[in-house]
Amino acid sequence: MAESFKAYLVSKTDDGQNVDLVDLTEDDLMEGDVTVRVSHSTLNYKDGLALTGTAPVVRRWPMIPGIDFSGIVEKSEHPEFNPGDPVVLTGFGVGEGHYGGYSGVARVSGDWLVPLPKGLRADQAMAIGTAGFTAMLCVLALERHGVAADDGDVLVTGAAGGVGSTAVSLLAQLGYRVVAVTGRMDETPYLKDLGAQEVIPRDTLSGKLRPLAKEQWSAAIDVAGGAVLAHVLSGIHYNGAVAACGLAAGMDLPTSVAPFILRGVALYGVESVMVPKPRRIEAWNRLVRDLPLDRLGAMTRMVPMTDLPELGQRIVQGGVRGRTVVEIGA
Ligand code: NDP
Repeated sequence: MAESFKAYLVSKTDDGQNVDLVDLTEDDLMEGDVTVRVSHSTLNYKDGLALTGTAPVVRRWPMIPGIDFSGIVEKSEHPEFNPGDPVVLTGFGVGEGHYGGYSGVARVSGDWLVPLPKGLRADQAMAIGTAGFTAMLCVLALERHGVAADDGDVLVTGAAGGVGSTAVSLLAQLGYRVVAVTGRMDETPYLKDLGAQEVIPRDTLSGKLRPLAKEQWSAAIDVAGGAVLAHVLSGIHYNGAVAACGLAAGMDLPTSVAPFILRGVALYGVESVMVPKPRRIEAWNRLVRDLPLDRLGAMTRMVPMTDLPELGQRIVQGGVRGRTVVEIGA
């Protein structure tokens, strides 16, 4: 008889959805040319949406959520991977349209996998996870724009969350003066430990929007969108840049063209799901080089798989600090 493993399965019901911890075998998995024994996954904002049904991120029912995972290849028909290889996966609709990481075993396309970067353990790769990978993509976007450490302060919104914590830590390590924006001012000591020089309350970026406000920041990484991003844009220096990756404050963008046409501000959209492999490998290599592993430890909590339903609720309410690594099978 085929060996069974535990997985979380979300299924649609007449009045919402159910989240169940079930026993599956490899016969239940979806198509793919690499089978991975999953050791770790994480909790991202999007996973919270999938676990709670708060927004329609699940595109196929039933679904195993978990948009990222790390583990060891068990079987492979893909030329780049062999049994025993440690691997990482983020994105490609895993956990949304293809069974994801909240499962003891995952079967995926080898084209979606990245070899575990040298110098990282599987749990550390998931402490970074999609959130940290996205933060790195944001930093790379600002670097390509030419933002330098001595240009001035760099703002990070949603700083106590997953993307934000990693962005603060990366930018500080790279020598930028980081201003962290948070709705949780009691997290100030945590954010300063990560390297923020200054912590400001989220409501600084609310109220009546002036198309152009005082030039305060050379650049920003924004996870919030909505009115928060509009306020960020109006305070960016001449020729500065913003990397926008999230919508924690909303999908809309109630701004004007003033920052773009009168200050030459650039707005870069950052997308982590379909990033081509060479850029993925570049980002992971930069994470190994630039993200201090002691700070990674400080921003990470390890939880058993059975905590997922409750943590899914908490992350959509903005109540999770930093990164959460899920021990699969625990
Ligand atoms: P988290 O929940 O860990 O962090 C989000 C943070 O945003 C919260 O911790 C909070 O930080 C802040 N926040 C919450 N509500 C609001 C609000 N109403 N206004 C302003 N800030 C708010 O999520 P992640 O870090 O995993 O993801 C952050 C965002 O980035 C999400 O929108 C997610 O969907 C998006 N994302 C996008 C990716 C892409 O490919 N483009 C990839 C990964 C994430 P604080 O308490 O410090 O204010």
